[in-house]
Amino acid sequence: MTKSVEFKVIKSDHPATREQREAILEKPVFGAKFTDHQVIIEYSSELGWHSPRVEAYGPIMMDPASAVFHYGQEVFEGIKAYRHANGSIYTFRAEQNAMRMQKSAHRLALPELPTELFLESLRQLVLVDHEWVPDPEGERTLYFRPFEIAMESFLGVRAANFYEFRVIASPVGSYFPSGLKPVQIWISLDSARAGKYGTGEAKTGGNYAASLLAQTEGKANGCSQVLFLDAETHTYLEELGGMNIFLVYKDGHVVTPELDGTILRGITRDSIIQLIRDRGIKVEERQVSLAELRDGYNSGEISEVFACGTAAVITPVGQFKSKNEVIGKENPEPGELTMSIREELLGIQFGRVADRHNWLVKLM
Ligand SMILES: *Cc1c(COP(=O)(O)O)cnc(C)c1O
Repeated sequence: MTKSVEFKVIKSDHPATREQREAILEKPVFGAKFTDHQVIIEYSSELGWHSPRVEAYGPIMMDPASAVFHYGQEVFEGIKAYRHANGSIYTFRAEQNAMRMQKSAHRLALPELPTELFLESLRQLVLVDHEWVPDPEGERTLYFRPFEIAMESFLGVRAANFYEFRVIASPVGSYFPSGLKPVQIWISLDSARAGKYGTGEAKTGGNYAASLLAQTEGKANGCSQVLFLDAETHTYLEELGGMNIFLVYKDGHVVTPELDGTILRGITRDSIIQLIRDRGIKVEERQVSLAELRDGYNSGEISEVFACGTAAVITPVGQFKSKNEVIGKENPEPGELTMSIREELLGIQFGRVADRHNWLVKLM
């Protein structure tokens, strides 16, 4: 690395005590507690990316006129660190996250953080906070949240001139504390997540803000996730608020909605397609209509449905509900392919299964 990207490390003067940390690591709650440090890299139009550093976790003092508060110029990522049995710490396909963050940044007119800086920021944070990476029992990991925000205080509507990239990290247990019970999914018929030529493919806060009303509606109807349909015709499945979706057919083949610019390019999705194809099973990326889901799931032609993402890994899906109908059985047994692909993916991530695609990236 060149001198300009050497990280300065300023250790926290108030880290958690060993007892406090161990209490948190014993039963981590997703995204509730954070490690002792954070990464900060600043950007200005004049200097480019500069002043990379690791410092104590803590609040950001910001001008209330900062652009991110008003126009949502923001992107983020989600990626995990896995502790292996020998104590080493790895992350998974991190260069894919780096590249996706660059694409998201481009779409939201933010500056693109070079891949090398992205990877180094994860490494630097783990070097100081490695004691926060839990033992792997119970699928525990350290979840990184890299994000980039517009810092300039100016109310004009234009791309800002000052930005910050930060990484914070939270020890997490299984995303679904109630265990691997199939989740119920609310089909949003009154709102869409992303439209053609919009920001659906970017990991940006606005997409989530747009999903929350439907999420609230779903929750009131006993569903923990929302399925969005295409905005144009409201006919085809897109994805959940933060996860991609797969359908397994009785004859063995697998279908997932094709990436059309409105669906987030999940790295878990991509990895699963690869793992399933490695088994000689056909995976189709194509349009799937709600009618196909309804008919297939009700008739048994579709035998398994699962959702996937870094945070939740792979989670079996039970029933779908909308304001008009209920599709499928409430509590089906988690599907066979769902569970075996889940085991294989977690096995690779935690170093129990050979990493034949070189997906692991050693952090320390
Ligand atoms: C992050 C995200 C996913 C999953 O992506 P992974 O790279 O697998 O974590 C899926 N859909 C949406 C909307 C997301 O934001």
